[in-house]
Amino acid sequence: MPRPTASPGAVAPLHLPFDNSYARLPGHFYARLDPVPVAAPRLLRLNAPLAGLLGLDPRALEGPEGVAVLAGNRVPEGAEPIALAYAGHQFGQFVPRLGDGRAILLGEVVGRDGMRRDLQLKGSGRTPFSRGGDGRAALGPVLREYLVSEAMAALGVPTTRALAAVATGESVQRETALPGAVLTRVAASHVRVGTFQYFAARGDTEAVRLLAGHVIARHYPEAAAAANPVRALLEAVVARQAALVARWMLVGFIHGVMNTDNTSIAGETLDYGPCAFLDAYDPAAVFSAIDLFGRYAYGNQPRIAQWNLARLAEALLPLLDVEEAAALAAAREAVAGFAPLFEAAWLGGLRRKIGLATEREGDAALVRDLLRIMAEGGADFTLTFRRLSDAAAGPEGEEAVRALFADPAPFGDWAGRWRRRLEAEAEPPAARQAAMRATNPAYIPRNHLVEAALRAAVAEGDLGPFEALLGVVSHPFEERPGLARYAAPPAPEERVLQTFCGT
Ligand code: AMP
Ligand code: MG
Repeated sequence: MPRPTASPGAVAPLHLPFDNSYARLPGHFYARLDPVPVAAPRLLRLNAPLAGLLGLDPRALEGPEGVAVLAGNRVPEGAEPIALAYAGHQFGQFVPRLGDGRAILLGEVVGRDGMRRDLQLKGSGRTPFSRGGDGRAALGPVLREYLVSEAMAALGVPTTRALAAVATGESVQRETALPGAVLTRVAASHVRVGTFQYFAARGDTEAVRLLAGHVIARHYPEAAAAANPVRALLEAVVARQAALVARWMLVGFIHGVMNTDNTSIAGETLDYGPCAFLDAYDPAAVFSAIDLFGRYAYGNQPRIAQWNLARLAEALLPLLDVEEAAALAAAREAVAGFAPLFEAAWLGGLRRKIGLATEREGDAALVRDLLRIMAEGGADFTLTFRRLSDAAAGPEGEEAVRALFADPAPFGDWAGRWRRRLEAEAEPPAARQAAMRATNPAYIPRNHLVEAALRAAVAEGDLGPFEALLGVVSHPFEERPGLARYAAPPAPEERVLQTFCGT
């Protein structure tokens, strides 16, 4: 492998300390192939803090050798590029063979925090799993994933991350010709519910067993010591999904394409396609143009996550117990565990959002009634809770919340109940306000801002709005002067009604 010779002022040589555990699994778990080189790689953005967390030198990644690696034009030392095999239920329909059709896993690195993470190139060319696709990604969706995944990370929601975006200098044909790009995605792993389904659908129980062992060692080491490690694994995945989807609900996130192939076994938000954030609170909100029946509507997400976990349980059945009836009972019990875990995480989060540090009977009714009047009054989800943080410091803050409701009267009644409930809390109002501000973001990647940023980048080659928005949503809880435009809901004519996968 050619390496630049050291000379004064030269960029640091690139060193990626790979240790590739997935590539040590049997050959039918993936296809070995290199990414397909692109015409003219140009670095659009590097996530230097994330590089640091991974123990990588950002200056080396920014250098010509680094950019060649991030574009897929050069395979770095230690990488073992593979496209992963997986299946999945897409909108309820089982597809036995999906796989990485436009992504390549370069390998795994162990970060400064001791965490092992995948480095994946997305948009890296055709693979044996590409079916009719070109294996490429357009600039818009790459920047969208970069922006929204980094916003989610800043919001404290478990998620894959974005290490870099590189322009390819090539165009990709979608409805029109669009500039192409490659995203470097960082994930705890890319094992999905659909990975288990791939082997289960082939009756390859030995592969399911090996995959379960890999996942236990990598993500759920405590399950190894359980009497039934596979059952413990299933229960742990259920718990992480319940916690994850509760976090989505608490920030108003709509994934948009919760297929089982987009459901991470490690419990991270995975695959930012037609995702969106709520502006006005509406449990039935759907943005994805391909979600014709609202299967993945905001309010359906918990139910769908549980459905996806039932598919995982099915794939694990032969390993849950030698007796079929006992295996089924174990599967049912584990999947049923989702609802109480989700409820507890969701209610706990909503308590924090309205400033309650203690638990009282009636809290659930109080938060549900708030959500109901928000839906009826078309109140902005993010702003309601953010302004409620200030109203918690004193009644003079209430007017700003009231203004978010089409009819403010029901909010007035609710606020009276809320104030009486707050009297049972010991915290001084200023501390409550600070705690609420730390859980209720001022800035989310609002759909209309995301669209505008992507439009500027794609149509005018102007990354300014993308950079500005990324900077704002990277510190979502810290209100700064001059950023009012980023906190505001869209004007009626700015409202985004549909989002697209753009694949
Ligand atoms: P997604 O909807 O992005 O989760 O992708 C679903 C499946 O379609 C996965 O197997 C992807 O690898 C595949 N896919 C999506 N876009 C492309 C593309 N441009 N070329 C090849 N395969 C693709
Ligand atoms: Mg996917």
